[in-house]
Amino acid sequence: MHEMSLCEGILQVLETESVKQGFSRVKKVWLEIGDLSGVEVEAMLFSFDAVTRDSLANGATLNIINIPGTAWCMKCSKNVTVKQRFDECPDCGSYQLQVTSGDEMKIKELEVE
Ligand SMILES: [Zn+2]
Repeated sequence: MHEMSLCEGILQVLETESVKQGFSRVKKVWLEIGDLSGVEVEAMLFSFDAVTRDSLANGATLNIINIPGTAWCMKCSKNVTVKQRFDECPDCGSYQLQVTSGDEMKIKELEVE
């Protein structure tokens, strides 16, 4: 499962940060997930629990912040909202879109002790 390796990546970041910032436990993680990232929130929550077991983030809560997808339409010369990566422009129907946000996943905030 794709989400499992994403969660392993997050755990690595948490471990690195714990050394840098000197905390020993992670209680809450806020994670931004873009609508266009293809990440399944349900699978993410499940994987996070599995991956963080017996780690510094054991029992930590994962909060998902949804980031809407936006793309630049070449024809309209403006940003439009898209729900899926290969959607057409909602205004003019063009497929000449360049995704500008919503395809990323990143850790927004941590609550640690
Ligand atoms: Zn357009």
